[in-house]
Amino acid sequence: MKIGIVGIGLIGASLGWDLRQLGHQVVGVSRQQETCAIAKREGICDRTSSDLASLADTEIIFICTPIAAILPTIELLTPHLDPQTIITDAGSVKGEIVDRATALWANFVGGHPMAGNSQSGVGAFEKGLFANRPYVLTPTAETAPSALSSVDKLVRSLQAIVYHTTPDRHDRSVAWISHLPVMVSASLMSACLGEEDPLILDFAKKFASTGFKDTSRVGAGNPEMGMMMAQYNQDALLQSLYQYRDRLDDLIGSIESREWTEIQDLLATNQAARADFLNSKDTCD
Ligand code: NAP
Repeated sequence: MKIGIVGIGLIGASLGWDLRQLGHQVVGVSRQQETCAIAKREGICDRTSSDLASLADTEIIFICTPIAAILPTIELLTPHLDPQTIITDAGSVKGEIVDRATALWANFVGGHPMAGNSQSGVGAFEKGLFANRPYVLTPTAETAPSALSSVDKLVRSLQAIVYHTTPDRHDRSVAWISHLPVMVSASLMSACLGEEDPLILDFAKKFASTGFKDTSRVGAGNPEMGMMMAQYNQDALLQSLYQYRDRLDDLIGSIESREWTEIQDLLATNQAARADFLNSKDTCD
Protein backbone atom coordinates (compact mmCIF):
# COMPACT_ATOMS: atom_id res chain seq x y z
CA MET A 1 0.00 0.00 0.00
CA LYS A 2 1.17 3.56 -0.71
CA ILE A 3 0.91 5.57 2.51
CA GLY A 4 1.38 9.32 3.08
CA ILE A 5 2.48 10.99 6.31
CA VAL A 6 2.25 14.74 6.94
CA GLY A 7 4.35 15.89 9.91
CA ILE A 8 7.41 13.65 10.33
CA GLY A 9 7.74 14.19 14.08
CA LEU A 10 7.64 11.66 16.92
CA ILE A 11 4.34 10.05 15.87
CA GLY A 12 4.64 10.47 12.10
CA ALA A 13 8.20 9.15 11.96
CA SER A 14 7.40 6.21 14.26
CA LEU A 15 4.43 5.31 12.04
CA GLY A 16 6.57 5.63 8.91
CA TRP A 17 9.28 3.33 10.17
CA ASP A 18 6.84 0.62 11.31
CA LEU A 19 4.75 0.81 8.13
CA ARG A 20 7.84 0.42 5.96
CA GLN A 21 8.83 -2.67 7.94
CA LEU A 22 5.45 -4.12 6.97
CA GLY A 23 6.30 -3.61 3.28
CA HIS A 24 4.31 -0.43 2.63
CA GLN A 25 5.69 2.42 0.57
CA VAL A 26 5.79 5.58 2.71
CA VAL A 27 5.81 9.13 1.35
CA GLY A 28 6.51 11.80 3.97
CA VAL A 29 5.84 15.54 3.90
CA SER A 30 7.81 17.88 6.13
CA ARG A 31 8.30 21.62 5.85
CA GLN A 32 11.99 21.17 6.60
CA GLN A 33 14.70 19.85 4.28
CA GLU A 34 16.70 18.55 7.23
CA THR A 35 13.77 16.47 8.49
CA CYS A 36 13.29 15.06 4.97
CA ALA A 37 16.96 14.06 4.85
CA ILE A 38 16.81 12.38 8.29
CA ALA A 39 13.62 10.53 7.35
CA LYS A 40 15.28 9.09 4.24
CA ARG A 41 18.52 8.25 6.03
CA GLU A 42 16.80 6.53 8.98
CA GLY A 43 14.51 4.43 6.77
CA ILE A 44 11.35 6.25 7.91
CA CYS A 45 10.19 7.20 4.40
CA ASP A 46 10.83 5.95 0.87
CA ARG A 47 10.22 9.42 -0.53
CA THR A 48 9.98 12.84 1.11
CA SER A 49 8.89 16.27 -0.02
CA SER A 50 7.81 19.63 1.35
CA ASP A 51 4.93 19.64 -1.15
CA LEU A 52 1.54 18.16 -0.19
CA ALA A 53 0.93 17.45 -3.90
CA SER A 54 3.49 14.63 -3.60
CA LEU A 55 0.80 12.63 -1.76
CA ALA A 56 -1.51 12.63 -4.81
CA ASP A 57 -0.95 8.93 -5.53
CA THR A 58 -1.19 7.61 -1.94
CA GLU A 59 -4.07 5.48 -0.62
CA ILE A 60 -4.10 6.37 3.09
CA ILE A 61 -2.66 9.58 4.56
CA PHE A 62 -1.85 10.08 8.26
CA ILE A 63 -1.94 13.72 9.41
CA CYS A 64 0.59 13.83 12.28
CA THR A 65 0.92 17.58 12.77
CA PRO A 66 0.13 19.43 16.00
CA ILE A 67 -3.64 19.56 16.65
CA ALA A 68 -4.01 23.18 15.50
CA ALA A 69 -2.56 22.33 12.08
CA ILE A 70 -4.72 19.25 11.34
CA LEU A 71 -7.74 20.97 9.75
CA PRO A 72 -5.69 23.59 7.85
CA THR A 73 -3.49 20.76 6.51
CA ILE A 74 -6.53 18.79 5.30
CA GLU A 75 -7.83 21.92 3.55
CA LEU A 76 -4.51 22.38 1.73
CA LEU A 77 -4.15 18.67 0.96
CA THR A 78 -7.54 17.68 -0.47
CA PRO A 79 -7.34 19.58 -3.80
CA HIS A 80 -4.47 17.22 -4.74
CA LEU A 81 -6.26 13.96 -3.89
CA ASP A 82 -8.36 11.35 -5.62
CA PRO A 83 -11.76 11.10 -3.79
CA GLN A 84 -10.99 7.46 -2.86
CA THR A 85 -7.97 8.47 -0.77
CA ILE A 86 -8.47 7.95 2.95
CA ILE A 87 -7.28 10.57 5.45
CA THR A 88 -6.79 9.80 9.13
CA ASP A 89 -5.14 11.85 11.87
CA ALA A 90 -3.19 11.21 15.08
CA GLY A 91 -4.44 14.17 17.12
CA SER A 92 -4.82 13.73 20.88
CA VAL A 93 -8.24 15.43 20.81
CA LYS A 94 -11.06 14.29 18.53
CA GLY A 95 -14.22 16.37 19.17
CA GLU A 96 -12.82 19.54 17.66
CA ILE A 97 -11.43 17.65 14.66
CA VAL A 98 -13.64 14.79 13.47
CA ASP A 99 -16.88 16.49 12.37
CA ARG A 100 -15.09 19.32 10.63
CA ALA A 101 -12.57 17.01 8.97
CA THR A 102 -15.39 14.71 7.76
CA ALA A 103 -17.17 17.75 6.28
CA LEU A 104 -13.95 18.56 4.41
CA TRP A 105 -13.25 14.98 3.27
CA ALA A 106 -15.82 12.17 3.16
CA ASN A 107 -13.14 9.47 3.58
CA PHE A 108 -11.86 10.82 6.90
CA VAL A 109 -11.39 8.61 9.98
CA GLY A 110 -10.38 10.12 13.34
CA GLY A 111 -7.58 8.29 15.15
CA HIS A 112 -5.41 8.59 18.23
CA PRO A 113 -2.49 6.29 18.98
CA MET A 114 -2.13 6.14 22.76
CA ALA A 115 1.65 5.99 22.64
CA GLY A 116 4.46 8.50 22.80
CA ASN A 117 7.31 9.84 24.85
CA SER A 118 8.33 13.23 26.24
CA GLN A 119 10.39 14.15 23.14
CA SER A 120 9.27 15.67 19.88
CA GLY A 121 10.52 15.88 16.29
CA VAL A 122 11.86 13.28 13.90
CA GLY A 123 14.82 12.44 16.17
CA ALA A 124 12.43 11.18 18.86
CA PHE A 125 10.95 8.38 16.72
CA GLU A 126 10.67 4.91 18.23
CA LYS A 127 10.57 1.60 16.44
CA GLY A 128 7.54 -0.53 17.40
CA LEU A 129 6.01 2.39 19.32
CA PHE A 130 2.42 1.26 18.74
CA ALA A 131 2.75 -2.44 19.55
CA ASN A 132 0.54 -3.52 22.44
CA ARG A 133 -0.66 0.05 22.94
CA PRO A 134 -4.25 1.27 22.55
CA TYR A 135 -5.06 2.95 19.24
CA VAL A 136 -8.47 4.67 19.32
CA LEU A 137 -10.56 5.20 16.19
CA THR A 138 -13.50 7.60 16.51
CA PRO A 139 -16.06 6.97 13.76
CA THR A 140 -19.31 8.92 13.65
CA ALA A 141 -22.56 8.28 11.72
CA GLU A 142 -20.95 10.15 8.81
CA THR A 143 -17.79 8.03 8.64
CA ALA A 144 -17.48 5.92 5.49
CA PRO A 145 -17.50 2.23 6.62
CA SER A 146 -14.95 1.20 4.00
CA ALA A 147 -12.52 3.95 5.12
CA LEU A 148 -12.95 2.90 8.75
CA SER A 149 -12.31 -0.71 7.88
CA SER A 150 -9.11 0.14 5.94
CA VAL A 151 -7.65 2.28 8.75
CA ASP A 152 -8.64 -0.32 11.35
CA LYS A 153 -6.88 -3.08 9.41
CA LEU A 154 -3.73 -0.99 8.93
CA VAL A 155 -3.34 0.07 12.58
CA ARG A 156 -4.07 -3.47 13.77
CA SER A 157 -1.15 -4.60 11.62
CA LEU A 158 1.10 -2.40 13.82
CA GLN A 159 0.12 -4.78 16.68
CA ALA A 160 -1.84 -1.94 18.27
CA ILE A 161 -4.90 -2.73 20.40
CA VAL A 162 -7.69 -1.01 18.49
CA TYR A 163 -10.74 0.57 20.13
CA HIS A 164 -13.68 2.28 18.45
CA THR A 165 -15.66 4.97 20.25
CA THR A 166 -17.25 8.37 19.66
CA PRO A 167 -15.12 11.54 19.63
CA ASP A 168 -16.92 12.77 22.77
CA ARG A 169 -16.31 9.56 24.75
CA HIS A 170 -12.70 9.56 23.56
CA ASP A 171 -12.15 13.15 24.75
CA ARG A 172 -13.79 12.56 28.16
CA SER A 173 -11.75 9.37 28.70
CA VAL A 174 -8.40 10.83 27.70
CA ALA A 175 -9.09 13.86 29.89
CA TRP A 176 -8.82 11.45 32.85
CA ILE A 177 -5.83 9.38 31.88
CA SER A 178 -3.76 11.72 29.73
CA HIS A 179 -4.71 15.40 29.92
CA LEU A 180 -5.45 15.60 33.69
CA PRO A 181 -2.14 13.84 34.54
CA VAL A 182 -0.25 16.37 32.38
CA MET A 183 -1.82 19.28 34.27
CA VAL A 184 -1.36 17.65 37.69
CA SER A 185 2.25 16.78 36.93
CA ALA A 186 2.91 20.32 35.62
CA SER A 187 1.41 21.89 38.75
CA LEU A 188 3.45 19.54 40.95
CA MET A 189 6.58 20.90 39.30
CA SER A 190 5.52 24.54 39.60
CA ALA A 191 4.54 24.02 43.27
CA CYS A 192 8.05 22.63 43.96
CA LEU A 193 9.62 25.57 42.16
CA GLY A 194 7.61 27.86 44.46
CA GLU A 195 9.68 26.75 47.51
CA GLU A 196 11.05 30.01 48.89
CA ASP A 197 14.02 28.68 50.87
CA PRO A 198 16.85 28.25 48.30
CA LEU A 199 18.61 25.68 50.50
CA ILE A 200 15.51 23.46 50.63
CA LEU A 201 14.94 23.86 46.88
CA ASP A 202 18.55 22.90 46.24
CA PHE A 203 18.27 19.82 48.47
CA ALA A 204 14.95 18.88 46.84
CA LYS A 205 16.66 18.90 43.43
CA LYS A 206 19.56 16.82 44.75
CA PHE A 207 17.32 14.30 46.56
CA ALA A 208 14.87 13.85 43.65
CA SER A 209 14.82 10.20 42.56
CA THR A 210 12.48 7.68 40.94
CA GLY A 211 9.25 8.93 42.60
CA PHE A 212 9.80 12.45 41.37
CA LYS A 213 10.93 11.17 37.98
CA ASP A 214 7.67 9.19 37.58
CA THR A 215 5.34 11.93 38.78
CA SER A 216 6.96 14.83 36.91
CA ARG A 217 7.50 13.06 33.57
CA VAL A 218 4.18 13.71 31.82
CA GLY A 219 4.14 17.37 32.84
CA ALA A 220 7.57 17.92 31.35
CA GLY A 221 6.72 16.82 27.79
CA ASN A 222 6.14 18.89 24.64
CA PRO A 223 4.73 22.25 25.96
CA GLU A 224 2.85 22.99 22.73
CA MET A 225 1.05 19.65 22.92
CA GLY A 226 0.11 20.18 26.59
CA MET A 227 -1.27 23.60 25.78
CA MET A 228 -3.33 22.18 22.90
CA MET A 229 -4.80 19.48 25.17
CA ALA A 230 -6.15 22.31 27.35
CA GLN A 231 -7.23 24.44 24.40
CA TYR A 232 -8.96 21.72 22.36
CA ASN A 233 -10.32 19.54 25.19
CA GLN A 234 -11.21 22.39 27.52
CA ASP A 235 -14.63 21.18 28.75
CA ALA A 236 -13.67 17.58 29.54
CA LEU A 237 -10.35 18.63 31.04
CA LEU A 238 -12.00 21.22 33.29
CA GLN A 239 -14.56 18.65 34.53
CA SER A 240 -11.77 16.25 35.50
CA LEU A 241 -9.70 19.06 37.06
CA TYR A 242 -12.69 20.20 39.19
CA GLN A 243 -13.18 16.64 40.45
CA TYR A 244 -9.46 16.30 41.08
CA ARG A 245 -9.46 19.57 43.08
CA ASP A 246 -12.37 18.24 45.22
CA ARG A 247 -10.42 15.04 45.95
CA LEU A 248 -7.33 17.04 46.84
CA ASP A 249 -9.38 19.22 49.21
CA ASP A 250 -10.80 16.05 50.82
CA LEU A 251 -7.30 14.69 51.27
CA ILE A 252 -6.03 17.96 52.78
CA GLY A 253 -9.02 17.90 55.16
CA SER A 254 -8.22 14.32 56.21
CA ILE A 255 -4.58 15.20 56.87
CA GLU A 256 -5.51 18.34 58.85
CA SER A 257 -7.98 16.27 60.93
CA ARG A 258 -5.46 13.46 61.43
CA GLU A 259 -7.76 10.85 59.88
CA TRP A 260 -4.91 8.42 59.37
CA THR A 261 -7.09 5.32 58.96
CA GLU A 262 -9.22 7.01 56.28
CA ILE A 263 -6.08 8.04 54.44
CA GLN A 264 -4.67 4.51 54.55
CA ASP A 265 -8.00 3.10 53.34
CA LEU A 266 -8.03 5.58 50.44
CA LEU A 267 -4.48 4.68 49.46
CA ALA A 268 -5.29 0.95 49.68
CA THR A 269 -8.35 1.39 47.43
CA ASN A 270 -6.27 3.31 44.90
CA GLN A 271 -3.43 0.81 45.05
CA ALA A 272 -5.86 -1.98 44.09
CA ALA A 273 -7.68 0.11 41.44
CA ARG A 274 -4.51 1.16 39.58
CA ALA A 275 -4.16 -2.29 38.02
CA ASP A 276 -7.52 -1.85 36.27
CA PHE A 277 -6.11 1.13 34.38
CA LEU A 278 -2.86 -0.53 33.44
CA ASN A 279 -3.96 -4.08 32.67
CA SER A 280 -7.41 -3.78 31.09
CA LYS A 281 -6.42 -3.92 27.42
CA ASP A 282 -9.00 -6.24 25.87
CA THR A 283 -10.38 -5.42 22.43
CA CYS A 284 -13.54 -3.35 22.37
CA ASP A 285 -15.24 -2.36 19.09
P1 NAP B 1 6.00 16.50 16.90
O1 NAP B 1 7.05 15.53 17.25
O2 NAP B 1 6.17 17.93 17.27
O3 NAP B 1 5.75 16.40 15.32
C1 NAP B 1 4.81 17.18 14.65
C2 NAP B 1 5.36 17.52 13.29
O4 NAP B 1 4.39 18.31 12.59
C3 NAP B 1 6.62 18.36 13.37
O5 NAP B 1 7.74 17.52 13.26
C4 NAP B 1 6.50 19.35 12.21
O6 NAP B 1 7.30 18.88 11.15
C5 NAP B 1 5.04 19.27 11.78
N1 NAP B 1 4.38 20.57 11.99
C6 NAP B 1 4.50 21.38 13.07
N2 NAP B 1 3.72 22.46 12.94
C7 NAP B 1 3.12 22.33 11.73
C8 NAP B 1 2.23 23.16 11.00
N3 NAP B 1 1.78 24.31 11.49
N4 NAP B 1 1.83 22.72 9.79
C9 NAP B 1 2.27 21.55 9.28
N5 NAP B 1 3.13 20.74 9.93
C10 NAP B 1 3.54 21.14 11.13
O7 NAP B 1 4.60 16.07 17.51
P2 NAP B 1 4.06 14.60 17.83
O8 NAP B 1 4.33 14.30 19.26
O9 NAP B 1 4.52 13.66 16.78
O10 NAP B 1 2.48 14.82 17.71
C11 NAP B 1 1.87 14.81 16.45
C12 NAP B 1 0.36 14.60 16.65
O11 NAP B 1 0.17 13.37 17.31
C13 NAP B 1 -0.30 15.69 17.50
O12 NAP B 1 -1.54 16.02 16.93
C14 NAP B 1 -0.47 15.03 18.85
O13 NAP B 1 -1.63 15.51 19.52
C15 NAP B 1 -0.60 13.57 18.49
N6 NAP B 1 -0.11 12.61 19.48
C16 NAP B 1 1.06 12.84 20.18
C17 NAP B 1 1.48 11.90 21.12
C18 NAP B 1 2.74 12.11 21.94
O14 NAP B 1 2.89 11.51 23.00
N7 NAP B 1 3.68 12.91 21.49
C19 NAP B 1 0.74 10.74 21.33
C20 NAP B 1 -0.39 10.52 20.56
C21 NAP B 1 -0.82 11.46 19.64
P3 NAP B 1 8.06 19.89 10.16
O15 NAP B 1 8.43 21.12 10.94
O16 NAP B 1 9.21 19.08 9.74
O17 NAP B 1 7.10 20.16 9.05
